[in-house]
Amino acid sequence: MTPEDAIDIIIVGTGPAGTTAAIYGQRLGLKTLVFGDTPGGNLYMVERLNNFPAFADGIGGTEFGLKLFQQAQSEGARFAMKRLSSVGKSNGRFEAEDSDGQVHAAAAVIVASGRFPKGLMEQDHRLKGINFCSVCDGPLYRNQQATLAVVGSGNAAAQHALTLSNIAERVYLIHRSRKMKMDAAHSAMVAGRENIQILSETEVMGYIGLDAIEAVEVRPAGQEHREIPISALFLAVGWKPNTDMIDLPVDTTSQGYIKTDARLMSSVPGLFAAGDVRDTDLPQVLTACADGARAARHAAGYLAETLAETLAQTLAQTLAENRSRG
Ligand SMILES: Cc1cc2nc3c(=O)[nH]c(=O)nc-3n(C[C@H](O)[C@H](O)[C@H](O)COP(=O)(O)OP(=O)(O)OC[C@H]3O[C@@H](n4cnc5c(N)ncnc54)[C@H](O)[C@@H]3O)c2cc1C
Repeated sequence: MTPEDAIDIIIVGTGPAGTTAAIYGQRLGLKTLVFGDTPGGNLYMVERLNNFPAFADGIGGTEFGLKLFQQAQSEGARFAMKRLSSVGKSNGRFEAEDSDGQVHAAAAVIVASGRFPKGLMEQDHRLKGINFCSVCDGPLYRNQQATLAVVGSGNAAAQHALTLSNIAERVYLIHRSRKMKMDAAHSAMVAGRENIQILSETEVMGYIGLDAIEAVEVRPAGQEHREIPISALFLAVGWKPNTDMIDLPVDTTSQGYIKTDARLMSSVPGLFAAGDVRDTDLPQVLTACADGARAARHAAGYLAETLAETLAQTLAQTLAENRSRG
C-alpha cells in the first residue's frame, strides 16, 4: 500500500493489544511501527496467566508476552523500543514524536497504551518498600519470614497476594469494602492459602517509617486505628489510563478511558484504541488481543477508504482541469 520505508499504522504499546494489532496489521499487508519499551506490556506483572483459552495449566505472563512479541517480529512488524511523547495530526496525517525527538508519520494510529496502577497517598514514591508489582519486587523478601501486605480487592490484588504467599510468612490483604471485587476463581485460590489473612472493611490511614515502610496504620470499621508491622506493601487500588501522549481532542470517559465506536475508532477519524486504554468492560489479556486484531482490521479498512477518497478527489480535480483547458 505504501513505499518501501513508509509506515501505514503507528501502534502505541507493546502489550497484548499492541502486539496483536501488529500481527494482524502485518498479515493484512500493512507496515506497522510499534512504540513502547516493555515487550508484553503489563504481562510482566502477571505471574501466571490462568484464564487464557488453550492454556489449561496456565502460562507465565512474561513468557506469553515474549511469544507475542516474537510472533509480531516474525510477521515483519518493526519495534522502535522507545516511548512516544506526543501524537498529533498535521496536514491530514498523524505525527508521533518519540522519546528521542524523532517524528514519525502515518495515516492511522492504534493507541494500545494500557493503564498504570494508581497510588494511595503522597508517600507512595518516597518510602522504600511500597510497590506495585509483586512478581518484580516480591522476591526481595524471600527467605526473611517477612510479613507483607496487599491493598486492594480485585483480581490484580488477589494475584499479588497469591504470588507473595509463596514468598512471605504472612500476607495481609487489606480492603475497604465489605465484599471483594475479585472473581470467584481468584476468591477460591486466595481462600485456599492459609498464610493470606483478609482484612475486610479496613481502611489504610497512613504509613509508618522514615526511609522504608515499617508498619501500615489501618482503621477497621467501627474500631480504633491500629498498626500492622510489615516489611513491604503492594498496591492494587485502581488504575489510570496511559493517554498523556495524545495531543488530540479525543473523547474519553470521566475516568479518562478512550471512547470508541463499533470499529474501535475514537472520536478522531483514523485514531483507533485497543485494550485496557479504551472504555472496555473486561480489561483482560484475551480481550486486549481481540481488540488489537479488530483495531488492525478496521484501521486497514479506514486506510483503504481514505486512499479511495484521495484517488477520487485527484481524478475529479484532473478531469476538471482538463475540461477547463478545453
Ligand atoms: C497483577 C496483575 C495480574 C493480572 N492477571 C491477569 C490474568 O490473570 N488474566 C488476564 O487476562 N489479565 C490479567 N491482568 C490484566 C492484563 O495484564 C491486562 O488486561 C493486559 O496486559 C492489557 O493489555 P494492553 O495491551 O491493553 O495494555 P498493557 O499490557 O498495559 O500494555 C500497554 C503498553 O503500552 C506502553 N505505553 C504506555 N504509554 C506509552 C507511550 N507513551 N509510548 C509508548 N508506549 C507506551 C506501556 O509501557 C505498556 O508496555 C493482570 C494485571 C495485573 C497488573
